[in-house]
Amino acid sequence: MTGDERSGVELLAAVSRGLIDLAQMTQVATFRLPYPPDLQVALDRLVLAGLLRNRPVPGGIPELLLWCREKNPTAWWPLELPDGFLSVDARLIHGGSKEATRTCAELASWGPEGVVESEAVALLAELADSCGTVERFATCRDFLINRPLLLQYNPIEFLGPTVAHTWRMVQGLYGPVPDRFWIDRTVYSCSGCSLLAKPIAPETSWCEGGCHPGEHVLQSTQQPEQSRILPLALRLFLALPGRTERAVRSALPSRTRLLPRGPGLYEFAGPDGTAGVFQVQDREQPVPAALRAAETAAGLPGPLHVVAPHRLVTSPGYRESFESALPVGSGVRLLSADKFTGQRQAARAARERSVDA
Ligand SMILES: [Zn+2]
Repeated sequence: MTGDERSGVELLAAVSRGLIDLAQMTQVATFRLPYPPDLQVALDRLVLAGLLRNRPVPGGIPELLLWCREKNPTAWWPLELPDGFLSVDARLIHGGSKEATRTCAELASWGPEGVVESEAVALLAELADSCGTVERFATCRDFLINRPLLLQYNPIEFLGPTVAHTWRMVQGLYGPVPDRFWIDRTVYSCSGCSLLAKPIAPETSWCEGGCHPGEHVLQSTQQPEQSRILPLALRLFLALPGRTERAVRSALPSRTRLLPRGPGLYEFAGPDGTAGVFQVQDREQPVPAALRAAETAAGLPGPLHVVAPHRLVTSPGYRESFESALPVGSGVRLLSADKFTGQRQAARAARERSVDA
């Protein structure tokens, strides 16, 4: 990435952070002025960059929000961006739901000033500290993966001896559902990703996990005061990949060990008995995902297996974009969940055959 491209990406990340700020402070569907200062500063930088280069720029925040809904940022960005940095259908704000997209959250997580993913990592590090042992932390982490949204929170459900201790450790992470998700006093969740959803037209709905139409149904409650939800950071960077992670772990033939620090890294036994490390990711944008994975891998003694949902890895261009963005010698390998568990099962079978022989 050239210096100019890096400046372009950093400004894109700043605008994305501003949009996430706006979403976080907008409890109701109508905007209340003033806008978040970081969004205003990012827009000022954007306008200056456009004027200096004689490129069209949005006339204010309402127009910026409109452009973010209607156009791929790469089509109008006044600064340089690396070729193919975002997928062709990328938007920062979803057209139907008007919510910040996963792409926006992934870009807001970019670089040393990144916010959403780093918040998830910090919240989980705090939880790991208060849990004391990796086993207890893993149990609490699984609880969060399984229940990102409690549509109807019922305290009695968590009084039982098996869950009471876990609930005491994690309950402080849950808060009320922001009231812009109260649609006619109804809160919806998606059966596919277990995250927030909104009906946006007859027969059409949006969900935070980006499930395909027809793959899910909406569940709802008309008592939104009784709903509890994890912060956006834990919904997108823990619970969303957590669905795939759960399936991968249960299909692996040998035990895995959660590393208590960092973004959900697991140690597993490699084919020759040495330990490997994998991380399950579910990210819309392959290029930022690859660059982030390379940073994670740089802190590891061996290669990092990035495991992603089959549907994502096989979507047009995803693997090619991910792999071509990896720096030389990054030690990152991208595998679909099916392929990763299949390889591990085959390696285990081969080991057992060699022992028998
Ligand atoms: Zn969904």
